[in-house]
Amino acid sequence: MLSTLRTIVQEVNSARDLQEALSIIVSRVQKAMNTEVCSVYLLDPATNRYVLMATEGLYRKAVGKVSLGYSEGLVGLVGSREELINLEDAPSHPRYRYFPETGEERFRSFLGVPIIHHRRLMGVLVVQQRESSRSFNEGEEAFMVTISAQLSGVIAHSEATGAIGGLSLTGEEAHDIGFDGVPGAPGVAIGTGVAVYPAADLDLVPEKATDDIEHELDLFQCAVSAVREDIERVAARLASQLRPQEQALFDVYLRMLSDEALPDEVNGKIREGNWAQGSLKQVVQQYVRNFEMMDDHYLQERAVDVRDLGRRLLSHLQEGEQASLEYPERTVLVSEEITPAMLGEVPKGQLVGLVSVKGSSHSHVAILARAMGIPTVMGLVDIPVNQLDGKELVVDGFEGQIFASPSADLRAYYQVICDEENELIRGLEALRDLPCETTDHHRVSMLVNTGLMTDVVRSLTHGAEGIGLYRTEVPFMIKDRFPSEQEQREYYREQLEAFAPNPVTMRTLDIGGDKCLTYFPIHEENPFLGWRGIRVTLDHPEIFQLQVRAMMKASEGLNNLQIMLPMISNISEVEESLHLIYRVYHEVREDGYNIHMPKVGVMIEVPAAVYQIRELADRVDFLSVGTNDLTQYLLAVDRNNPRVAPLYHSYHPAVLQALVRIAQDAHAVGKPVGVCGELAGDPGGAVLLMAMGYDSLSMNAASLPKVKSVIRSVSLEWATNLLEDILLLDSPHVIKSCVDLALRNAGFGRYMRPGKSTGKTLAEVASASA
Ligand code: PEP
Ligand code: MG
Repeated sequence: MLSTLRTIVQEVNSARDLQEALSIIVSRVQKAMNTEVCSVYLLDPATNRYVLMATEGLYRKAVGKVSLGYSEGLVGLVGSREELINLEDAPSHPRYRYFPETGEERFRSFLGVPIIHHRRLMGVLVVQQRESSRSFNEGEEAFMVTISAQLSGVIAHSEATGAIGGLSLTGEEAHDIGFDGVPGAPGVAIGTGVAVYPAADLDLVPEKATDDIEHELDLFQCAVSAVREDIERVAARLASQLRPQEQALFDVYLRMLSDEALPDEVNGKIREGNWAQGSLKQVVQQYVRNFEMMDDHYLQERAVDVRDLGRRLLSHLQEGEQASLEYPERTVLVSEEITPAMLGEVPKGQLVGLVSVKGSSHSHVAILARAMGIPTVMGLVDIPVNQLDGKELVVDGFEGQIFASPSADLRAYYQVICDEENELIRGLEALRDLPCETTDHHRVSMLVNTGLMTDVVRSLTHGAEGIGLYRTEVPFMIKDRFPSEQEQREYYREQLEAFAPNPVTMRTLDIGGDKCLTYFPIHEENPFLGWRGIRVTLDHPEIFQLQVRAMMKASEGLNNLQIMLPMISNISEVEESLHLIYRVYHEVREDGYNIHMPKVGVMIEVPAAVYQIRELADRVDFLSVGTNDLTQYLLAVDRNNPRVAPLYHSYHPAVLQALVRIAQDAHAVGKPVGVCGELAGDPGGAVLLMAMGYDSLSMNAASLPKVKSVIRSVSLEWATNLLEDILLLDSPHVIKSCVDLALRNAGFGRYMRPGKSTGKTLAEVASASA
């Protein structure tokens, strides 16, 4: 059964469109179950009706014609109950519904399973049989449940592909269908999609036609020659180290590259008008499919070789291609997984939005996007990246939604929101030099989180009083090797100088989790619980000490450096780190640098640290809470996984209780404590943190003016009452709604989402703007 399943899923995966995918499903399932009928009904969101989309065994002419209401007939019963129904004599069931167009009266046994993707009911898969004596058994039920669960994602993907092309489920024209992801960075962007791909991934190569066939043939010929040379070179180099049967692998590759094999077929596709990369993809995928479907295990394994060869050819074809990518004036980058390096490729001032299939709102790239003020949607799991290339896109980073090729009305609606947001930001510029103080004169330090130099420039214009978190790993992530001590000194000096004499808090390298260095890969089953942050650097004291040395030397003459340790989960990590920091301090002084010992602090972002605040605070100068990780670890919700994004909630009562306790315990031993997680940059979160007694709030530059304007307009007493009220509540959603309501009532509705607070409909806003 497993291999049948695998074959069906593979075939469906490579279908060109939804209709082909569904036709493959019904014909393969009918055959595998040896039954007379297999049909698939999809729920059309536009009409809320199930449409018969494909069938094997019913009259084909009924496809696209027959439809049922949401809870009509047996299909409706399966869908509304969201569970399997297995009947021996379907026509005698009170919910049975007869459609003469299908020829269905001849069938008796019925087995229907719902198709559900991320809680969304997509449709129902049905098998039927003429004889009532042939009822479906438990094994068949299990097969249907498994196949439906495996195919729901593929169906969602094909459905999204059609919708981007402006087609409804039934193939009619449809516009302004929104695709839901997770909000990454607030704001709205309207621009042109540019799909970027990690190098050499055949599955991600888009289909494109070419009008210069000779050029594509030449490109492919060059790639073949280059790969052939590579393989011959490697084979020669390894000749003395390999056994003859291992060397034979290279001969297999070279035979596949001979003219009458794979290249011949790729050239054929190019001559039909496809570009070289797309032609290669089609041929390699066909080969892989054929090999994988073979019964012989040895031949199945050859699929791996073909795929590898395909990747090698593709990487030669792609050489220089990404470098010469044309970025439009208003670029919306779209990728499976956006990396900081991709952001750096876009010319200055042209990047307006980001769309990522992977990741969630607290992934580091989303945090970077917020710092840069670029509206972002993450976790668009079903979106086919290649279909968005070159399309006009609306990125709604408030709601976590995108639209492709928007209608004039929709564009106008979003343009109004963009304009309102810009106006709001301009209005806040006047606050720059005013203190962050409540109406009853309570002061809070407003600090900024940085990673790039652009953050520094933005934060200075936004009135930050220092840096509360400089993520030193960011400059490490956009290089292809560890930066030298001198290079690090230069990065650090820029940050220290920009804010002197105000404090600049530099966090030691926090890699692992979702922050990878290409030149120092960490592959782990469970990276967020693995080798991360201080655990890595204490295991590599040479990296840690070099970094601390660069920080200290950079601080000479400025003396505004503070050092902060990430991911601390026990006292000995602090003691070991302090030991290394002191050692470096003495060495640097011995080298003749006139520096002061920097203040050292720890991040509170692991639940264990919450219960050792006093012990930690006794050993260091300050504490800073990383609510992004603290939320993830307290709630056991991966901050990077869009599937569990609705469970990730920093307003969860458990998180709020922990935050209250941390502030109390730190102050009990007389140590300052701040927050540098994203909650500090959320106007509602900032008000609650201030009421809890936090001394400083550190946030991305874009959030700074909004948070400052809210704090300057309320009293500490008002915030304390709000905190007392919400600490009595037990649901994160209710707490969030209460805080939002309190801010709206205080006149800050526009901070939550411009446009929405006006309560206007799309049509009203669009017509007002016309
Ligand atoms: C945090 O975890 O809240 C934090 C500030 O660190 P990072 O987001 O870089 O993990
Ligand atoms: Mg963290």
